[in-house]
Amino acid sequence: MGIDAIVRSLNRDEVPTFGRSRGWQVSYIRHILRGRSVIGEFQAHANDADGKRVAVGEPLVGYFPKIIPEDLYWRAQAAIDKRTIEGSGRKGKTYSSLFSRVANCGCGSGMHYSDRGSKGSAWLACDAADRKVGGCAAPA
Ligand SMILES: [Zn+2]
Repeated sequence: MGIDAIVRSLNRDEVPTFGRSRGWQVSYIRHILRGRSVIGEFQAHANDADGKRVAVGEPLVGYFPKIIPEDLYWRAQAAIDKRTIEGSGRKGKTYSSLFSRVANCGCGSGMHYSDRGSKGSAWLACDAADRKVGGCAAPA
């Protein structure tokens, strides 16, 4: 299952988030899937002079209990890499940074430019509707 599908599934089933976020986000699911803490590693981070988060020191192997086998972790990384290269099943999905976080949907969520429709059609899509959270009926 791809990251978009995981996000929709969690939000559709109203699985609670860890924090106070309004539904699960693609960036957070990617962070969990990419992170090596699921195979027990801890990597310390700190902010550099520019305020950017950077790794500090070597990862500590065996710091957390492994919650998935290592081969599954690497299969997931390969699958994510493959989808990133080939594009997900939703061809032509592009977000214009021009509209990102500028337009707001009536439901209060941000909107993004979407042109994944057929024949070059494009529209402003609701982020919440896209992630299947909050019951927004705007086009995703
Ligand atoms: Zn909306």
